[in-house]
Amino acid sequence: MHDISSHDETRQGEAFSPAENQVNPLSRKFYIESYGCQMNFSDSEIVASILNGAGLGATRNIEEADLVLLNTCSIREKAEQTVRKRLKEFRKNKTHNPGMLIGVLGCMAERLKSKLLEEEKLVDIVVGPDAYRTLPSLIEEAGGGQKSVNVLLSREETYADISPIRLNSNGVTAFLSIMRGCNNMCSFCVVPFTRGRERSRDPFSIEAEARDLFDKGYREVTLLGQNVDSYRWYHPETEAVVTFANLLERIALIHPQLRVRFSTSHPKDITDDVLYSMAKYDNICKYIHLPVQSGNTRILQLMNRTYTRAWYMSKVDRIREIIPDCGISSDIIAGFCTETEEEHQETLSIMEYSQYDMSYMYFYSERPGTLAAKRYKDDIPEDVKKRRLQEIVEMQNSLSKERYKRDIGKKFEVLIEGESKRSKDQWMGRTSQNKVAVFPKENHPFKKGDYAIVEIHDATQGTLIGKSVG
Ligand code: SAM
Ligand code: SF4
Repeated sequence: MHDISSHDETRQGEAFSPAENQVNPLSRKFYIESYGCQMNFSDSEIVASILNGAGLGATRNIEEADLVLLNTCSIREKAEQTVRKRLKEFRKNKTHNPGMLIGVLGCMAERLKSKLLEEEKLVDIVVGPDAYRTLPSLIEEAGGGQKSVNVLLSREETYADISPIRLNSNGVTAFLSIMRGCNNMCSFCVVPFTRGRERSRDPFSIEAEARDLFDKGYREVTLLGQNVDSYRWYHPETEAVVTFANLLERIALIHPQLRVRFSTSHPKDITDDVLYSMAKYDNICKYIHLPVQSGNTRILQLMNRTYTRAWYMSKVDRIREIIPDCGISSDIIAGFCTETEEEHQETLSIMEYSQYDMSYMYFYSERPGTLAAKRYKDDIPEDVKKRRLQEIVEMQNSLSKERYKRDIGKKFEVLIEGESKRSKDQWMGRTSQNKVAVFPKENHPFKKGDYAIVEIHDATQGTLIGKSVG
């Protein structure tokens, strides 16, 4: 399922290339694979733009690449292992093409720094998430035979002036980064260490990018950040403040036909103002990714999430009160340090209370350097973690089934993203609540990027099945 800030398993390791009709006029070529959250996928589009400026064009064929890049993730140990395995596979490419350079970007680069060069001899370049502007000079340095590293984090860098090159795009939906870094210190999380301090991009460049996307035919933008609700931008001269609610409205006002989504929301920061803006504009999608992590107050405290079980539940109530038709999804961690069976049961019951349409679910993976790694023992045995995770997954499956079934008989406005993967005779799109809907093309004159009113007559736990009624 497509999500935004969390990991979309179907896209892990996806190789990016320009849209098919875009001829690559550049003779030097780079190949890039991205792992992890949507932010990394969005960063790869910024990297592509920087590399284009330096005379390198994207290719999907690793054999013809002069530069191979992996944009990596450190969030769980498994994510890092996947990247290390992939690096090993590049050995044969390098044997065939000794001039080929290999670079590691993103969170693993930032976490391991030059240690990565010692551990992975194949790697020539290591670049952290705030240093992509220096890629051209690092490539040059590495081309001269010297290994190069830049992992400096910045308090200002937002890549605001760089126009990302949309890679693997459907031409209808796009991600737009509005802030970088994270100031929260969730005890399990490595992100504040790998992506640095939180900073908000200026609203004018965000608006200009969204407008440009609309003019190019895009019909949906997703505003991206680790914690979008704490977006805050101060005008350097007037000191006027732009909040996330203000920004949402500005983007929504670009055009009623441009949908706006956002992710991720930290429950502590999502305000009534944001909820009222969502309710006010039809084109702000009625969907909130609101990661709970755990349903137990003691565990939430150990996680340093800054809310309690009751507080989270009242936030869900508030969302349902202001936006009755809102879809809510979550991230959940099973088996955090010292979690008891009763506390795990509270996670299951908060899922039921919140009626999530969908969740990203993981078992706890201790990350070096995090507060949890320093303070708490990772004491839940792996088989217990896995069993608890399985129970969480089963709970979510049954909730999803119910949530999708509830839509049978209703009509939704669906933005058409393309043909259904299963059948050329069907369109695939999404409802405002971010549910995938498919419906037969029949004789309607629809095309990609159009809105269709679809009446739902059947549902699985991940897809609504309907018929166009206008
Ligand atoms: N900023 C977002 C937030 O706070 O909700 C998400 C950040 S993270 C990229 C995505 C998810 O990975 C988190 O919400 C959490 O559920 C999970 N995660 C982070 N660290 C983890 C760890 N050490 N072990 C297991 N899951 C983890
Ligand atoms: Fe990690 Fe918490 Fe920041 Fe999300 S809010 S990126 S989980 S520290």
